[in-house]
Amino acid sequence: MNTKTVKAICLKTADYLDFDKMLLLYSLEEGKLSAHIKGVKKPQAKLKFAAQQFCFGDYQLSEKNGRFLVINCTEIESFFDLRKDIDAFTCACVMTEFVSVVGQENESNASLFLLLIKSLIKLTEDIVPKLVLTKFLLEGIKIAGFGLFFDKCNCCSSTVFSKLYIDNIKGGAVCQNCISDASLPLSPAVLNCFRQVDNTSLERISILKIDVYLNEMLLNLSSYIQNLIKKLNSIQFLL
Ligand SMILES: [Zn+2]
Repeated sequence: MNTKTVKAICLKTADYLDFDKMLLLYSLEEGKLSAHIKGVKKPQAKLKFAAQQFCFGDYQLSEKNGRFLVINCTEIESFFDLRKDIDAFTCACVMTEFVSVVGQENESNASLFLLLIKSLIKLTEDIVPKLVLTKFLLEGIKIAGFGLFFDKCNCCSSTVFSKLYIDNIKGGAVCQNCISDASLPLSPAVLNCFRQVDNTSLERISILKIDVYLNEMLLNLSSYIQNLIKKLNSIQFLL
């Protein structure tokens, strides 16, 4: 029996048998992996915490015939505070869903892993959760290869345009000369907000005061991700 330890965050859990769960983990070392954890629905189970969504820890796994079993876990952060605020909790669910969609199995992606951890930490601070989510999704789609850039047309590279459109088929933001049937215009105010979020680091994101535009920005990002990557089901609870 092979054993190994990975630094991972629990993206999703599902009940399995009477007392067990299946976990979808996202690990720094190997990307996405699923693992079986036994007995965690029993009242006194010592690894109950490891089978909670958002648990971040060192998971010790044993491997048999390509399947993983969690045999121990050392918690680094439970992110339990995310459950105290419904908006923060829902934004965290969108983030873990995004990583479960974009993250690959057997493929480490330190940028995606760190973006998720840092964004979840931000959600536990006193910052508008939807602002943190907007920054997370903008950075996340860059990592996934579908980045939006707001200073030039993604198609012809022109920097002179009166309006910018998000293209939901080709990807990217395009000028009025390059639009297609799948291009949606960005209002000047929303375009300006996207630029601000893009140009501000996650660490400093709380300086932005753009609350009234966040729903529209998230709607734009949601339809972009749905068309180019996959629909994020949990975002419907926010908008
Ligand atoms: Zn263009």
